[in-house]
Amino acid sequence: MKRIMIAEPIFNGNEKKYLDECIETGWVSASGRFIHEFEAAFAEYCGVKHALSCSNGTVSLHLIMLALGIQPGDEIIMPALTYIATANAVRYCGGTPVFIDSEESTYNMDPDKIEAAITPRTKAIMPVHLYGLPADMERIVKIADERHLVVIEDAAEAHGSMIHGKKAGSFGKAASFSFFGNKIITCGEGGIVTTDDEDLYAYMLQLKTQGVDRQKRYWHNMVGYNYRMTNMQAAVGLGQLENIEWHLQQRERVAGLYKEYLSDCENIRMQAEPDGYHHAYWMNTVILDDFVKLTRDDVMRQMEEEYDIEMRPLFYPMHIMPPYYDSSVSCPVAERLANRGICLPSHGYLSEEDVAYICTAFKAIVSRSVK
Ligand SMILES: *Cc1c(COP(=O)(O)O)cnc(C)c1O
Repeated sequence: MKRIMIAEPIFNGNEKKYLDECIETGWVSASGRFIHEFEAAFAEYCGVKHALSCSNGTVSLHLIMLALGIQPGDEIIMPALTYIATANAVRYCGGTPVFIDSEESTYNMDPDKIEAAITPRTKAIMPVHLYGLPADMERIVKIADERHLVVIEDAAEAHGSMIHGKKAGSFGKAASFSFFGNKIITCGEGGIVTTDDEDLYAYMLQLKTQGVDRQKRYWHNMVGYNYRMTNMQAAVGLGQLENIEWHLQQRERVAGLYKEYLSDCENIRMQAEPDGYHHAYWMNTVILDDFVKLTRDDVMRQMEEEYDIEMRPLFYPMHIMPPYYDSSVSCPVAERLANRGICLPSHGYLSEEDVAYICTAFKAIVSRSVK
């Protein structure tokens, strides 16, 4: 059997045709029809007024932070358990990420812990929809409204996820998505900001295009950035987006198979899905319980070495890594989840046979470690 990868992009729509058009017409850079079509289609998909494409899902977060005017001393509340880009975007502006612990069951930012973290310097709350499961946006938005704070979604992993039919990317003042090669849909590299706010959108558009004036060419109003997406990226992205329901269905199918094949595995648990929440299943994850004597890394190594199955650890919490190290931060749930959590291969090419093979291997390793 060939190596089973944790993630694989699937291009089975118009991606190649659109990409060919870019090369044949010469529109390979930051102008061209695909950029506008991709942005319009993505905004419509999320149910928002505007979508602003950019080079990747880290700069989309940076653009939002810049547009909010985040400065040294400003605090942004975010989960400790996330990918490092969430925190970095704040730090690029000199701001301070304030880390919140996870809910045990969903791994997402625990709304009960937010109030205590709010200070006069807090500017925004930035939940992350971890591994494709939306954070508790109803409660987070309510807290933010009461305290006059802005909500920014890091939806990099959660295209198409929903709470009671409302899409990720439509809950806050703005949201950021990534189209990296392993994400739910991809442009190779790419990012997008969604927002209903006209002024924020216009300002971010200037920021991402070197601060150039909209009317007067080569007249620059500010120190901007070159954070543009290319027409080639957008061509691939549009081809992917046209098929997003298919991509999500495949992920749901794979997640259903994991639930079935791991239902008899007593020493693990999986990410809980609250009622009305629609998981996008970017990653299927398992948390090992204390009866499993092997470390998480040993389980992953044995899966790799004995079965040629690629595994991935959950993210490390931000406050234990060098750039954000802070021994005064207490996030015991995030630390425990990170310490015992594994991401399983999660992509639309996995067949039932593949998932059965992965689960059989996994259960064999876990059960011999429990005995
Ligand atoms: C992937 C990811 C990003 C960054 O996206 P890139 O496109 O890789 O820059 C940001 N936040 C989270 C939570 C992510 O998973």
